[in-house]
Amino acid sequence: MFDKILIANRGEIALRVIRACQEMGIKSVAVHSTADADAMHVRMADESVCIGPAPSSESYLSKAAIISACEITGAQAVHPGYGFLSENAAFAQALEDHGITFIGPSAEHIRIMGDKITAKDTAKALGIPVVPGSDGGVPDFETAKRVAQEIGYPVIIKATAGGGGRGMKVAKSVEELEIAFRTARSEAKAAFGNDEVYMEKYLQRPRHIEIQVFGDGKGGAVHLGERDCSLQRRHQKVFEEAPGPVITPKLRAEIGGICANAMQKLKYIGAGTIEFLYEDGKFYFIEMNTRLQVEHPVTEGIFGVDLVREQIRVASGMDLSFTQNDLEINGHAIEVRINAEKIPNFSPCPGRITQFHAPGGLGVRMDSAIYDGYRIPPYYDSLIGKLIVHGRDRPEALSRLKRALSELIIDGIDTSIPLFHMLLAEPDIQNGEYNIHWLEKWLAERFA
Ligand code: ADP
Repeated sequence: MFDKILIANRGEIALRVIRACQEMGIKSVAVHSTADADAMHVRMADESVCIGPAPSSESYLSKAAIISACEITGAQAVHPGYGFLSENAAFAQALEDHGITFIGPSAEHIRIMGDKITAKDTAKALGIPVVPGSDGGVPDFETAKRVAQEIGYPVIIKATAGGGGRGMKVAKSVEELEIAFRTARSEAKAAFGNDEVYMEKYLQRPRHIEIQVFGDGKGGAVHLGERDCSLQRRHQKVFEEAPGPVITPKLRAEIGGICANAMQKLKYIGAGTIEFLYEDGKFYFIEMNTRLQVEHPVTEGIFGVDLVREQIRVASGMDLSFTQNDLEINGHAIEVRINAEKIPNFSPCPGRITQFHAPGGLGVRMDSAIYDGYRIPPYYDSLIGKLIVHGRDRPEALSRLKRALSELIIDGIDTSIPLFHMLLAEPDIQNGEYNIHWLEKWLAERFA
């Protein structure tokens, strides 16, 4: 086991990893930009190193600065959290070249899953169901027309190098296809410097269901069920729950089994999430994230396991502390993302927090790095906390969430808290009847 781990991240996820280190008796090293000198992760870690100025390109994304910080402090491993360098194959490789362990999958697996076409081909070869679509890239409009004819309209055109929901265009007819194809290519070129696009059948009312997987790197792998993350705005998740309201034990066992099997064949190491669109009883692979997800606590809630601890264990060469048979779902968990944003337009709202009170009580978990008097810097993501509740069943989790939200006080800035009060009053949310378009539609109607 490692003696010292460096956390190449900030905010709540840095705290999350430091907590796991403390419980495992491992020393932690925080890194921070000059804008984060007063941040909670710096206070909580055993040691800290300033790695550069405020812009993340010069600090949290600086591979050289982070590797130097490891060398200065003698950290043997790096936990990347999510975002920043967590899915950067070159970073994983650079650490390995310096004899430092990357707490995550191999550079090769990060690379495979980072390219959308290779990821889809790999998923298909591993027996994972994928969305019907083009075989790889679509080079010209003639090919696009032929593919659309085969799979049927509507279709979605996506950038091979895409991410963050950008560069995607939907076409309902051949007339629309011509324009969509050209704009998708020019947008892809502008955003990612690569104009290659591919095509898929456009699913009209799917849910976003993702499967948590975990591998030991030696051919052992398990799944930890699903999370339903269908409530999204601009492809950003805002509310996540597990188990999924429409997923039966049989469906879970089937898709979970397929995913765990695929990870065994890959000899995947660490945490991963296989994302699907789900419609009419069928799963369609869209991508795999080779890291810990923001919403991992809902899975921890229903299985009673510490996923960060497992990441550290397998990275150090140990086995997983559970087998598939040990994993049993207990109750229901929901997470809401607390962002420093003004509702309803979701404009970022950095500033000073004058008062903070975290909710508590049975089944309530607040993962956040804010404190009274903390000034949220304007340079980074607007996520300032996650409120996670666990109950014996979904109705109990919902009433607990409502209660915990009313207890939560964050003064001095605008946050997304009012949004969740409104959502919890909606019958569709209470009944679990929503898909990936529900929230945008609701926002458009409600705030028209
Ligand atoms: P990105 O990497 O840019 O986030 P994804 O491939 O993960 O792109 O897709 C992001 C979102 O776009 C999905 O969560 C879903 O809402 C929508 N989407 C993607 N593919 C399809 C499809 N074939 N049909 C309908 N919606 C889709």
